[in-house]
This record gives sequence, structure tokens and C-alpha cells, in this order.
Amino acid sequence: MPLFTRKEENENSRIGLYASADSRESIPKYKIPEQAQDMRTVYHLVHDELMLDGNSRMNLATFCQTWLDEYVHKLMDECLDKNMIDKDEYPQTAEIENRCVHILADLFNSPKSASTLGCSTTGSSEAAMLGGLALKWKWRQRREKEGKPAGKPNLICGAVQVCWHKFARYFDVELREVGMEHGRYNLTPEKVLELVDENTIGVVPTFGVTFTLMYEPVLEIAEALDKLEKEKGLDIPIHVDAASGGFISPFVSPDLVWDFRIPRVKSINVSGHKFGLSPLGVGWVIWREKEDLPEDLIFRVNYLGGDMPTFALNFSRPGGQIVAQYYNLLRHGKEGYRKLQQACLDHGAYIAEKVEKLGHFDILYNGKGGGVPGACWTLKPGDHGFTLYDLSDKIRSRGWQIASYPLTGAAADITVQRVLIRHGFSRDMADLLVNDYTRCVRYFEEHPVREPLTQQEAGGFHH
Ligand SMILES: *Cc1c(COP(=O)(O)O)cnc(C)c1O
Repeated sequence: MPLFTRKEENENSRIGLYASADSRESIPKYKIPEQAQDMRTVYHLVHDELMLDGNSRMNLATFCQTWLDEYVHKLMDECLDKNMIDKDEYPQTAEIENRCVHILADLFNSPKSASTLGCSTTGSSEAAMLGGLALKWKWRQRREKEGKPAGKPNLICGAVQVCWHKFARYFDVELREVGMEHGRYNLTPEKVLELVDENTIGVVPTFGVTFTLMYEPVLEIAEALDKLEKEKGLDIPIHVDAASGGFISPFVSPDLVWDFRIPRVKSINVSGHKFGLSPLGVGWVIWREKEDLPEDLIFRVNYLGGDMPTFALNFSRPGGQIVAQYYNLLRHGKEGYRKLQQACLDHGAYIAEKVEKLGHFDILYNGKGGGVPGACWTLKPGDHGFTLYDLSDKIRSRGWQIASYPLTGAAADITVQRVLIRHGFSRDMADLLVNDYTRCVRYFEEHPVREPLTQQEAGGFHH
């Protein structure tokens, strides 16, 4: 039975949207409706519901792109129906993916950038899993060749993003995570040497640590491992988690050596949808040379037509993000990326300077020595009458989302507050933010919170 008679349907398109029957009654929320509904009305109901989400441009907790130019929107629309895995049907999308791989291999100074391997992923998480798997396979091949047991692999890292905890658990690798200490937030060569043994499949420095935005010292760690190899014969590869830094450092600090210029760095992951400036849903993993990716991790599928190599955890996936990444690489070039990222770094330093002047905060990071654009700070010791969680909570009432969270390891008693600055942010927005932040601090100075919120009560931000 049709939901509406012809007369009613005509009536529906004639009367105002919010006077229609679908608008006047509650829509089903946890069951699919029995009947079809008018698409305009349903569109507006869904659209309106999304008003309850935060404003993504004011979300200073995320590393991901929230501003995309009109041509990215156009290309995404044009690619909406293209499955990137159908490489035979959409050979030009496949070609574009391939170009991006070699552009990035070249940007990361691979000695064989024209012939090396890599692929797009859904983000750095999938890219990290693939990089980690290649390390595990290589290690196991080495061990089996030497006739040694290969049952207890371990991976050494600093305070990593959750994807490495997932990798370790999903793929049965012991994670030797070096927690932070007061005054030492990064993985150090000394800590690596303490933990390394013959079962270490690799070391993963993070180039742009989630907690602090800092770069871990890849070169120093590599040099310590060079020395270890000379002394003990252990040859330990490095995978760099450059989710953010991979699209920042090559442009704003090209002389900083962290990439394939270091022979020990065998693979790198980077998020296209973070500082790669592309829409959500794209990351990349690149190997130094094709020999660094074990052949038997590559599957060949023939049921799409042609013989297509694939190395991924996913199968079907939209092609638009890849195309948009290519557009961004061409459109911005080195100059564009450099200027955009530098502007964001400058805004971050500017905000840190203003926040410091408020008198309550110690600046932990302002991006001036290199790192991800943004800033983070802690409360100075002593009673301020408010916590960082209170501030995050209060400034949310103006729409800004600013993360507060504890550090890790022995530094877990330190709470930090962090702002990320991305493409689409201006000095004007920085001033608006600083004004709102100042107002919140002044409010708490006049109305101290007697019983500060615990992290749980404040809701916490998870990134
Ligand atoms: C964001 C991030 C990840 C996860 O990347 P996605 O692209 O969100 O999957 C991994 N590592 C680091 C250092 C990150 O910043």
C-alpha cells in the first residue's frame, strides 16, 4: 500500500517541508520504517539532526582535515561511484594512486623512488598495520633462515598512537612501549638499546607524537642501532610513524633527516587526511625499496579482470580520496605545502605566547623547534581554582573543542591541554580563540571551582 495517495503526494510537495506528515511525527530511530518516505523531508530531518555535532573547524582536538577547497569537493563528487580496488575498471584512478606512491617515495628521499612499492590505505592506522606486518614477516624469514625460533616477536616504540597497540594485539607482537618520564617525553636511543634483543622486529619512532606534537629523534635512534649492529651483529629496521610529520617536515624543515636518507628506515606511514590536506579516508605506506616488502604479503586477484597485486586490510574503498590527494600534491606543490604548514606553525606559536601571558600555564610545546602545528601546555604547580578539564568544558560552550588528557607512563600524573592548528585556520580565528580562552580563565579566577571535575566527569577527549 503506498504511503501517500497521488493527491497527498502532490500535497506533500506543495506544502512547507515542516508541515508535512513526516515532519510532524517522530521518525523511527532503531528500526527500518515499513514504508518509503519523501526524500526531501528525510534529507532535512537527517541534516537537522547533524546540527547536534560539533563544528569541525572549531575542533582543535583533531589532526584531520576539516577545510577542503571547492575542487576537492567536485572531485570527490565525481569519484563517488568509483571503487579504487577495481583497478582494471578504473585504471586511471589506479595510475593516480601509483603516481602518489612515487611522489611520496621521492619526497621521503627513497633511493629507488621510481621502482619502490607502497599503497594507499584508509589512514595511518591501516598503513601502520601493513608496515608492522612487513617488519614481522622480514624478521621471521631471517630467523627461519638462521634456524632460530620465531615465536616471540617484539616491537619497540615510545608513547604511540593506539594503532600500534592494536597492531601488537591483533598480530601477536609484544609491544615494548617506553613510557614518558617527567622531563623526558620522547623515545631515546638509550631506551631503545635497553630493550632491544634478537626478537625485536623493528623500532617505531613517532614523527609527530599524538600527546605532545613533538618529533622523536629518528636519526639518533638509527645511529644507536648502527652501533649495536657493529658490536652485536643485530640488524634492527626502523619504521617511522610519520602520520602528521610526513607532510610537514619535507616542506618546512627539509634539512631535518628522519626519512629514507637513513638507510635503516625501511618504511614510513603518513596520513593523507591529516597534513596531506585531503579529505577523511586516506593514508599511505611507502617502503624504502621494493625488497623491503615481502612478496608473500602481496595477494594477486584476477576476478576483477587482469592480474592485480593487492596489499591491504580492506578491499572495496572509495577512489575519491586518492584522487583528491593527487590534486592537492599538484595544486599546492612544495611551495604551497610549505607556506600553509608554516602559517599553521606560526598560529600555534602565537596562541602559545598568548596563553603563557595569562600566568597560569607552562608551555610544553609551541612548534618553534619543529613538530606538528599547534601548542600544548600544563597548569603551573599549585591551586588555580580550576583544572584544564574545567577549561576544556567551559570553552566548549563557545564551540571550541580543546583536548585535555594525561601523559603516559611515569608522567601520567601530568595533565596537558593541546590545540592542533590546521589548514583553514587564520590569525583572526586565533584571536577569537585567545579572547574566548582568556574570558574562560578570567571567569574561573572570579568563580573558582571548589571541587574540580575529574577526567571522567569532564567527559575526556579521545584522539
Ligand atoms: C593519527 C595518527 C595515527 C592514526 O592515523 P589515522 O590516519 O587516523 O588512521 C597513527 N599515528 C599517529 C602518530 C597519528 O597521529
